[in-house]
Amino acid sequence: MAGMGYVVICLFFGLAGGAVGRTKGSSFLLWFLISALIPLLGLLAALCYRWEDRELRRQCPGCGRVVKLHDAKCMRCGRELEFPEVAIASEAAVRRQAA
Ligand SMILES: [Zn+2]
Repeated sequence: MAGMGYVVICLFFGLAGGAVGRTKGSSFLLWFLISALIPLLGLLAALCYRWEDRELRRQCPGCGRVVKLHDAKCMRCGRELEFPEVAIASEAAVRRQAA
């Protein structure tokens, strides 16, 4: 039953990758699928993936939308964004302050 064993391994990696993805503020399902389809590499990718909710943010001067600090372009109005002088605290930092 080698095939069955492979499925179990894929599921295991899928769950691990999904859990890692979710703790980093990303989608559980997305990382579950990635890690289950390419077991070892998917999990490694999830581990290397940046902490989405720990990124510094800034506000788009064009439309006021809060975007990630490293974004070069606003996703809402399409404005090119200079690297800002002021950054907004990350979501994780804001949550810590509120708690
Ligand atoms: Zn904008």
